[in-house]
Amino acid sequence: MKQFTYKAFKAQYPDDDACLQAILERRYGKAEACPNCGIVGKLTKITGRRAYACKEGCHIYPCVGTIFEHSSTPLSQWFHAMYLLTATRNGVAAKELQRQLGVTYKCAWRIGHQLRILMTERAKADDPGQLSGHVEVDETFIGGRKHRTKKRRHGDKSSKTVVMGMVQRGGPLIGKVVKGTHTMSLIPQVMENVAPGTTISTDEWKPYKHLPSLGYTHFRVNHSAEEWVNGIHHTNTLEGFWSHLKRGIRSTHVSVSPQHLQKYVDEFAFRFNKRKEPAEMFNRLVRQVSRAESSS
Ligand SMILES: [Zn+2]
Repeated sequence: MKQFTYKAFKAQYPDDDACLQAILERRYGKAEACPNCGIVGKLTKITGRRAYACKEGCHIYPCVGTIFEHSSTPLSQWFHAMYLLTATRNGVAAKELQRQLGVTYKCAWRIGHQLRILMTERAKADDPGQLSGHVEVDETFIGGRKHRTKKRRHGDKSSKTVVMGMVQRGGPLIGKVVKGTHTMSLIPQVMENVAPGTTISTDEWKPYKHLPSLGYTHFRVNHSAEEWVNGIHHTNTLEGFWSHLKRGIRSTHVSVSPQHLQKYVDEFAFRFNKRKEPAEMFNRLVRQVSRAESSS
């Protein structure tokens, strides 16, 4: 794995101007001509502003329409946050961003939140389509309280949220927050995200018994009988992802509400899917933040 060290990052993005230049280039290419009037020639950075001028006097604002437009946080701090978000295995909590960037907690939270939205969009844009080959499918419970004092009246078994995972061996992972562990929560996700004819390994959870009738080749591992691996059939890739996700959430995000959980799952899936190319992961995020009309 090729590391993208902090030193390499700082060498590439030493200050606000370098970051602005990166955004300009992602938006307009290596602008050899003014994107406004088309006159050929290098654009000149206007001192003290996030803007460039062409020879004819047009002003170009690369940040307009991006998450940076109305942000008074220096671009170098945004880039630093992007570096931390992509380079850190377990994600970065707002508290840690606050400490590393030297900004207020509110500002750090906002930066993290906006970048996560972009990572989610990026993950969607990278949509691998349906998984195929050999796929592991599994679900897990996240969050909630360990010690409940009172049971809720309507048979609420747990205040935990169910996350379902599907991972192609040697390929991408898709994580979805679902309503429960019953057939109608799980099976439609498989049908949507896994190509027919795919070999699927699961545990013995009942809803998965429908898979063969839907055109999948299905193998189960009987976890309740202490069987964890049956030849090539196991869900160890997902088990690894779950423990990583849970550890990350525990150590960085004090509590994750079900509404926000999908964003965290996407963030972890994004990193998992780009685990072999951390520098590329950062570049993709830069490309994503440089797009106009991104959500803010
Ligand atoms: Zn011009």
